[in-house]
Amino acid sequence: MSLPTRLDIPRAQAVLRMAAGDSADKVPLHAPQFAGAEWRYLKECLDTGWVSSVGAFVDRFERDLAQAFGVARAVATVNGTAALHMALLLAGVKPQDEVLIPALTFVATANAVRYCGAVPHLVDSDRETLGLAPEALEAWLTEIAEPGADGARNRMTGRRIAAVAPMHAFGHPMRIDALIAVARKWGLAVVEDAAESLGSLRDGRPLGGRGLVGATSFNGNKIITTGGGGAILTDDADLADRAKHLTTTAKQPHPWLFLHDETGFNYRLPNINAALGCAQLEQLPQMLAAKRRLAAAYAEAFAQVEGLRFFNEPPGAQSNYWLNAVILDNPADRDPFLEETNAAGLMTRPCWTLMSDLPMHRDCPSAPLPVARDIAARLVNIPSSAALGCEARAR
Ligand SMILES: *Cc1c(COP(=O)(O)O)cnc(C)c1O
Repeated sequence: MSLPTRLDIPRAQAVLRMAAGDSADKVPLHAPQFAGAEWRYLKECLDTGWVSSVGAFVDRFERDLAQAFGVARAVATVNGTAALHMALLLAGVKPQDEVLIPALTFVATANAVRYCGAVPHLVDSDRETLGLAPEALEAWLTEIAEPGADGARNRMTGRRIAAVAPMHAFGHPMRIDALIAVARKWGLAVVEDAAESLGSLRDGRPLGGRGLVGATSFNGNKIITTGGGGAILTDDADLADRAKHLTTTAKQPHPWLFLHDETGFNYRLPNINAALGCAQLEQLPQMLAAKRRLAAAYAEAFAQVEGLRFFNEPPGAQSNYWLNAVILDNPADRDPFLEETNAAGLMTRPCWTLMSDLPMHRDCPSAPLPVARDIAARLVNIPSSAALGCEARAR
């Protein structure tokens, strides 16, 4: 095997500097952009007094979201982790169940499984998509599980495997349809974590609604933001009604009585956050165009740099390029590159630490993770704000 090419750090840094344009100060990894009706909608909330749990913006945001994600119904929540927690409960995940998730994900995916009293079961990723690998999952299930009437049974732990929760890493669509085929064969519910994939397409269609139920996030660093926020996504009207009920303290509609019929959650999104979301969604097409322009500029410039590869959208998919990523040839270059770029005010970040390397998830059942481990050692995220894409056009 030939030795991996060493990274030309000065040239790589020059590409980041070029993309950042004239911004002399610190260049963040991902800054929100408020270029639309945000002020006007927020003022409307304050002027009318509708700032909290009820209000017209929540209803409108849910309608607009359903359209953007190509689902029948969206239910807005306080954040993406809460949406994921709800989605797993709605999919029937119970204490002591196992839920298959990629080891390479943001920690919220694993945490939401724990909130159900269930156990994350880690699986490997695909090189081409950075998301859960359907073939590797199938091979692993064949080795350790048997199909049952209600989900699969893990022969090693004796527990039920109830669901699989794939996600679309950095906005790059994973092969969701291939995964759904595997899930169907093994009787697993599919809970799609679409926190990073608003505006991304696979086979020309949006992501988040192909499984039983999905979840997304509008945290400050996501494609669009509501400050904090999220949503449950589904085509199933009964599940959506149940999501609304559970996220609003399970209160029965009544003019004055406080009647709650089960232990619900206070997970609903306040109207003032939804107002921000409505304004943000109106700008989604421009933001996506800007982000794709920035990615194209990066792809072209990094093609001239030794020792790394810009991560392009997978075949058959259109990515929102939420967080742009480069894959270094040599893992030994990662920390020096991170140190030099951050010292120069260019914010770069390593990939997430694999769930199998975090103390609270270390003992989870796990498939072999050769691809996830390799990606985690060599991937670096680089500045990705939509505003940088606007500048890319101006130059
Ligand atoms: C951001 C994110 C979440 C959680 O969303 P919050 O709104 O921050 O709670 C869940 N999963 C993935 C993959 C994410 O990127």
